[in-house]
Amino acid sequence: MRNGGVSFWWQQVGLPTPSDRLDGDVTCDVAIVGGGLTGLWTAHYLREADPSLDVRVLEAEFAGFGASGRNGGWLSSELPGSPRAYARAGGEEGLARMRAAVRATVDEVIGVTTRAGIDADVVRHGVLHVARSAAQAERLRGELDAEQVAARIRVAGAVSGHLDPDCARVQPARLVAGVADLVRAQGVRVHEGTRVRSVEPGAAVTQRGTVRAPVVLRCLEGFTAGSPATAATGCR
Ligand SMILES: Cc1cc2nc3c(=O)[nH]c(=O)nc-3n(C[C@H](O)[C@H](O)[C@H](O)COP(=O)(O)OP(=O)(O)OC[C@H]3O[C@@H](n4cnc5c(N)ncnc54)[C@H](O)[C@@H]3O)c2cc1C
Repeated sequence: MRNGGVSFWWQQVGLPTPSDRLDGDVTCDVAIVGGGLTGLWTAHYLREADPSLDVRVLEAEFAGFGASGRNGGWLSSELPGSPRAYARAGGEEGLARMRAAVRATVDEVIGVTTRAGIDADVVRHGVLHVARSAAQAERLRGELDAEQVAARIRVAGAVSGHLDPDCARVQPARLVAGVADLVRAQGVRVHEGTRVRSVEPGAAVTQRGTVRAPVVLRCLEGFTAGSPATAATGCR
């Protein structure tokens, strides 16, 4: 695959053609900058909470162009950082609430995709961690012995394993394209091919017009630092 061909996931399904480019100035209730999973799920739950809201997503390329259509495909309930660090910041109770919320997210995503008929190639078989040394086994404290691990997958030198059932695999490009279709069906305008040049209090300025809204959300993740859309201050 040519470097820069977005991702193998998109190669599998075919790159979408950007649609519904912004055409002039508009006013709405919520402007969301960035059409990845953060922006699209936000649009979904906003419309679910209040179907009368006029929500616009402004996406420079096409929905899922960023990490949302390029990632590892793990729909996982595992925390991305050290539980001890989270507990230091939010206390043990906060950590427990966060674990519960992250676990519930796996069910939530599968539930929404199932109900909406999104074919994201979801398979929920959990994630298996394998220890290959005594030190790793000590840290992992897995419940599976070497034989049980081998019954699932043959890993040279495996001594033990831990199976976390709250994890599924997805096809990320199918998932993000499906969520984009879902929010469109809910009445959200997803303006693709519409790059935001700057975010100002109450407005997102694009090369195709200005979107004015009392709430402007920046959902750019990895694009945040390098984006002129983040240069202005006073925005959420
Ligand atoms: C290699 C890799 C593997 C990963 N694996 C996993 C995994 O297995 N499981 C998991 O849960 N997470 C994984 N992640 C993390 C996850 O993919 C991201 O946290 C998530 O996709 C971020 O979504 P987002 O919507 O915030 O950002 P993005 O998906 O990056 O969306 C931001 C969007 O903003 C658009 N944009 C940029 N600039 C502008 C502008 N000026 N105007 C308008 N639009 C703009 C971009 O085109 C893009 O579509 C992985 C990340 C990477 C990089």
